Amino acid sequence: MYVGIDIGGTNLKAGLVDGEGCLLAARRTPLGPFQGGEYFVRRLAELTAQVCRDGGVPPGELEYVGMGVPGAVAGSEIVYTCNIPLKNVPVGRLFSQYLDVPVRLANDADCAAVGEYFCGAGRGTKNFAVVTLGTGVGGGFILNGKLCSGGGMAGEVGHMVVERGGEPCACGRRGCWEAYASATALIRMTRETMERERDSLLWEVSQGGAAVTGRTAFDAALRGDGTARALCRRYAEYVAVGVVNLMNILQPERLALGGGVGEAEDELLLTPVREIAARESYAARCGGAQTEVVRAELGNDAGVIGAALLGRAAE
Ligand SMILES: [Zn+2]
Repeated sequence: MYVGIDIGGTNLKAGLVDGEGCLLAARRTPLGPFQGGEYFVRRLAELTAQVCRDGGVPPGELEYVGMGVPGAVAGSEIVYTCNIPLKNVPVGRLFSQYLDVPVRLANDADCAAVGEYFCGAGRGTKNFAVVTLGTGVGGGFILNGKLCSGGGMAGEVGHMVVERGGEPCACGRRGCWEAYASATALIRMTRETMERERDSLLWEVSQGGAAVTGRTAFDAALRGDGTARALCRRYAEYVAVGVVNLMNILQPERLALGGGVGEAEDELLLTPVREIAARESYAARCGGAQTEVVRAELGNDAGVIGAALLGRAAE
């Protein structure tokens, strides 16, 4: 029995998970105001104890607690997180003051990859990749059945440059994939497009520009707006640039698109990405085995389930 915790920018989610990846009990709690690393780890321990109680399993029977971290990890330490001010927090050591259970940490996109690999879109493969299109762009790879996490900071696919000298990125470079393919980037592109096209339905869909979200472009496109359709096409092309790059480097059997934007309608995202990949990937051009591009299946549960199953995919 395992507990998986998904540490998000707004919520902490925890689940009690069995060896098959079934979620037996789950809880979600708001992150709340940040009160330091030690307090933060105490809350993780309390949350673990709560889901154990919910599921009727004593914490002492857990093999480990897996945690998905929105940032960089090293061993059982959080090195850095982007949206929560956690820096060099020895989670394993602090956690052991409350519960005598080992801790496993991984990047949140790595956890999503592990979850999808065992219980979702990656089942039945040996080489599998997940790309999450959310606030940022994350990636996780399973190669020969093992999570490829490098020193804890591998798989930062969002920071591969797709436009040299392009849009600035929070990482300090310019033209990162994340600056074109994240929900944040899509919202920026939607606003830019709206300013140029005053007659577009994008205005109506976003209540006069007051509520532009990662859905605005898709919703206006589904209502037949030409400007929005062109914007969605441009966005899908940027997603495809990075997807084809990853295919050429890793040649996974399957690559799943997840995250909030990954839930867009097939005709507006998955289908154009598949068409571009079928035309441009090296394997496609040379008649090699082609990567199948699919939608991620576990949605919001991928992180919790994957964190819980980290041990099964350990290098
Ligand atoms: Zn970057």
